[in-house]
Amino acid sequence: MTDLTQRYQQVKHDIQQAALMAGRAPDSVHLLAVSKAFAAEDVEALFHAGQRSFGENYVQEAVAKIQALKSLQPSIQWHLIGPLQSNKTAIVAEHFDWVQTVDRLKIAQRLSEQRPAHLPPLHVCIQVNLDGGHNKSGIDCMSVNFDTGAGLQALQTLACQIGLLPRLTLRGLLAIPEPYHDFAAQQMAFTRVKALFDWLNQQLHTNHPMDTLSMGMSADFPAAIASGSTLVRVGSAIFGQRAPPLWPKGQSHL
Ligand SMILES: *Cc1c(COP(=O)(O)O)cnc(C)c1O
Repeated sequence: MTDLTQRYQQVKHDIQQAALMAGRAPDSVHLLAVSKAFAAEDVEALFHAGQRSFGENYVQEAVAKIQALKSLQPSIQWHLIGPLQSNKTAIVAEHFDWVQTVDRLKIAQRLSEQRPAHLPPLHVCIQVNLDGGHNKSGIDCMSVNFDTGAGLQALQTLACQIGLLPRLTLRGLLAIPEPYHDFAAQQMAFTRVKALFDWLNQQLHTNHPMDTLSMGMSADFPAAIASGSTLVRVGSAIFGQRAPPLWPKGQSHL
């Protein structure tokens, strides 16, 4: 076994342990391997070790890898987990299977319009921001109050609008809380996201409730799983320490 596949097996084991400790089925948590800043060869090695879903942050870097690994389609699944600007929606709609960071209607509409007819609908998650952390990305849910209903309208409206777009399937929510070091604080932040997810599912009145709660990264996925995460996005614990981004955020390359 290589170091890469050894770390991969360890992360899979830790995910299953966290699920069992939370009284959940070990296969109820999906692992997204975050391959940003790593080469197509590393993705291919992990694919051959059994991994199918990969997360990328930067569109140009991702599309280069997706094209280099075309022979692995359709088994391989690509998720965009970085911020998406409207001038890149077409290329994203053509190349990705999932976009987890939708935070406004304009982006959703463009993705739906631009999704090629020969591909299945694009799976999307709405990115929510409950604590102001992580570059303030995501729809603002900071003042959410479940007792009064305050702060929930914008999210509910966006979810309903996405539900009407023909070429998108709303799968769930993504959140990136502020990083905390202790488990209890991590869990408190994730539990609020879970409450938001459950509340939204109740409001949607659909036959297809959202099934994906995307939260937890290398440093905090056990707490996320304890709080109900169904998809953890793990990069460095599998691939190792990252070099700085190839294409820093905000710089345009396409
Ligand atoms: C980079 C990144 C990850 C993975 O982070 P690690 O700490 O390396 O596991 C997960 N989610 C998002 C949105 C990221 O940008």
